[in-house]
Amino acid sequence: MTPAGGAYDAVIIGGGHNGLVCAAMLGRSGKRVVIVEAASKLGGAATSGEFAPGFTVSSCAHILNQLHPKVSRALDLSRHGLKLSTARMGTIALAPGGRHLTFEGALMVNEAVNGAGEVLSQRDLSSLSRLRRRLLRFAGLLHDFQATVPPRLDATSWRDGLGLARLGWAVRRLGRDDMRELLRIAGSNIADVLNDELDSDLLKGAIGLDAVLGTGLGPRSPNSVFTLLYRLSGRVGGVPGALALPEGGMGAVTDAMAAAAKANRVDIRTACPVKSIVVEEDRAVGVELESGEVIRAHAVVSNADAKTTCLDLLGARHLDTGFVRRVKGIRARGTAAKLHLALDGLPRFSGLEARDLGRRLLIAPSLDYVELAFNPCKYGEYSPAPAMEITIPSIHDTSLAPPGKHVLSAVVQYAPYDLKGGWQAAKDGFMDRIMDILSAYAPDLADRVVARELLTPEDLEQRHRLPGGHWHHGELALDQLYMMRPVAGAAQYAAPVPGLYLCGAGSHPGGGVMGAAGMNAAAQVIKGGKQS
Ligand SMILES: Cc1cc2nc3c(=O)[nH]c(=O)nc-3n(C[C@H](O)[C@H](O)[C@H](O)COP(=O)(O)OP(=O)(O)OC[C@H]3O[C@@H](n4cnc5c(N)ncnc54)[C@H](O)[C@@H]3O)c2cc1C
Repeated sequence: MTPAGGAYDAVIIGGGHNGLVCAAMLGRSGKRVVIVEAASKLGGAATSGEFAPGFTVSSCAHILNQLHPKVSRALDLSRHGLKLSTARMGTIALAPGGRHLTFEGALMVNEAVNGAGEVLSQRDLSSLSRLRRRLLRFAGLLHDFQATVPPRLDATSWRDGLGLARLGWAVRRLGRDDMRELLRIAGSNIADVLNDELDSDLLKGAIGLDAVLGTGLGPRSPNSVFTLLYRLSGRVGGVPGALALPEGGMGAVTDAMAAAAKANRVDIRTACPVKSIVVEEDRAVGVELESGEVIRAHAVVSNADAKTTCLDLLGARHLDTGFVRRVKGIRARGTAAKLHLALDGLPRFSGLEARDLGRRLLIAPSLDYVELAFNPCKYGEYSPAPAMEITIPSIHDTSLAPPGKHVLSAVVQYAPYDLKGGWQAAKDGFMDRIMDILSAYAPDLADRVVARELLTPEDLEQRHRLPGGHWHHGELALDQLYMMRPVAGAAQYAAPVPGLYLCGAGSHPGGGVMGAAGMNAAAQVIKGGKQS
């Protein structure tokens, strides 16, 4: 199917949130665009789903903290239906004995509130405030570069030279002390930084977990400072590091993006898996669907990860061996599972009031706890005592569960993609361990469960075509960032084959429901950007 008058200007492989943003931006500039999504619904890893009759939950991503303001402004997402059920979700770091640590607003942003729980020492309060200011300054730098196209590594053009100079200048502008500090800690591990500055185990455990959520790192792994900065680079309503929940779950974000795309005359087709990218005279000229249908377009833009796009859909024969080697080397092994519980009422967490359960709850009582949870994962085993990020979104949004009932959504770490012996045999045992840990904090939880769903990285890969079940289509590591993301030779969104572009989380700046990769890729397609 082609539009009247010939081929589309662009065909987008995949209707994840980045594909939708890219399509909407291209449509807005007057291009004729079609999205072909393999799944029966749009959204990729940013969807909502009914996992038990009457109970709906965000199927993968559950907290909205990284949506780039330029994306929401350009697509006017609120006009297209996006509403938040809460824009300032607090956090509670759960303590086994019930002396929890409560934060108003975002962790690391507002002062800690002590209430009846853990009381931070004056030293911790002032160190936290200093540390927070510094980390947010560094995270602000990342934020500014997320909506830009990285320069080429070999910087041959004036534009690339300018990009590199801008980066250098932005770091220099931090001032001598901050610049030194950034260079000192950027590649280092969050445990060392927190141990240098803070005393409270609960506080350090909570920040440590935030640093490693969705990554293949523990708090003592190099690079875990960077991953914390990445998480803190997000803003909600202009507040850095704030956490929000979309009304209707994460699918409401992609519904609004799809509405923006349709308003810009984008054609959207679901249940249309792409089998291959069609190449003629060394140029990508369209896609062939698994049904055999061919859709021709002047540009092919892939929201799928770089390995799938380049090796499976395009084929290594169209690429030089050095590039193929780099693509094969992309590390994307997920370590996070997703738990959904349907509850016949609100559970009781020891030491918490019902009103506290609307905050994000963390099970990460110390850095050692998180590191010990990480250890087995290095050897292909799941954590017997996993760390967790828990939300009960139905407290803020009654549309998610029948009256009086609730849904619980949790990210559970660590659950390695390549589990020794395979997930089929191990899943029930892991589920039991998770319930044991949760029950230690909420003794009546197990009795309230009417349905449950656990998605391992293997399930996430199969259901959502997420390679390795990895959040970001590729680890956020210093060697897989910026002008090396997904790999050198494709970091400006254009692949080495003319007419082919990448627009997903595997490209700069990375994953999270941000939309920046889709927005930046659209700008390159409009410019006719090439990889030279
Ligand atoms: C368990 C989990 C929890 C997370 N939690 C959070 C969170 O709380 N907050 C947050 O901001 N982020 C979170 N993330 C990360 C976030 O969800 C992802 O980084 C982001 O959604 C990736 O978006 P994307 O559009 O780049 O790619 P994807 O969402 O992966 O979309 C790619 C799309 O391409 C389609 N596709 C692939 N191959 C083909 C083909 N051959 N033909 C047609 N279509 C194809 C796929 O079906 C998919 O729809 C989480 C991720 C996971 C897995």
